[in-house]
Amino acid sequence: MGYAQYGCTKTTFHRGEHSVAKGRNQKKFTAETQRPQRKQYLKSLRRRFMVTKTVDADVMVISPHPDDAEFGVAGTVARWTREAKRVVYVICTSGEKGTSDRTLKPERLAEIRQLEQQAAAKVLGVSDVIFLGYPDQGLEDTSGFRKQIVRLIRTYRPTIVATADPYRRYIWHRDHRITGEVVLDAVYPFARDHLAYPDLLDEGLEPHKVQELLFWGADDVNYRSDITDTFNLKLTALLCHESQVKEFRTHDVEGWLWERCEAMAEGENFKLAEAFHRVEITW
Ligand SMILES: [Zn+2]
Repeated sequence: MGYAQYGCTKTTFHRGEHSVAKGRNQKKFTAETQRPQRKQYLKSLRRRFMVTKTVDADVMVISPHPDDAEFGVAGTVARWTREAKRVVYVICTSGEKGTSDRTLKPERLAEIRQLEQQAAAKVLGVSDVIFLGYPDQGLEDTSGFRKQIVRLIRTYRPTIVATADPYRRYIWHRDHRITGEVVLDAVYPFARDHLAYPDLLDEGLEPHKVQELLFWGADDVNYRSDITDTFNLKLTALLCHESQVKEFRTHDVEGWLWERCEAMAEGENFKLAEAFHRVEITW
């Protein structure tokens, strides 16, 4: 999928890039130069010369582990990419603990899961897959993690963000809960407010308003997305996660997935669905 086709790459040059090159407004720093002045001047230089590439995407899918996005949203992703929407995946952890195979080393499992995730994304037409590399079962709601998500949102500027529902009750992987919480906070208010993470603004990453959040795995479903025409792509993408599929309790993955998606379409006039809690952000 080429950028030019959708006209969606954007390079931002900051104003005033020639003024110092022409020799005007140059300041010389000597031993007597006041430290705060120097700091402020260096900051202004950074803002003048920094070239920040931002890439407009329509959708950002933020997944706690490799495979969660395929369970949660892959059929909808396939529909979006068919409609020529640009979809970006962010995978928070390496998924290196989810196995019953005692011979498999975590480092090797992380490599396998990364390759499987890339293969699944390719099936779905996802343009970028970003691996954050956090340890499986190791996510925490930290300012650093939140800032990484804010940085990605401000870089890709998606209209829709999809992730795991943080408010699913009881049995829910801790990484899912924390990813959902951190993404929710990152979207609102941290990605929106220019005074949040001012150093990101210094880098040229302008605030961004996401318009819609989709949470998969929700107890409180209020939106069912029609995936009747893309079910096969969801299945194919899910089967790319071979190291996880072999751990499923069923050997009939297709039948199991069909029943699950049929149940999610309950009450709709289409056959198969993915179900979400959807939040439209009207600001
Ligand atoms: Zn997971």
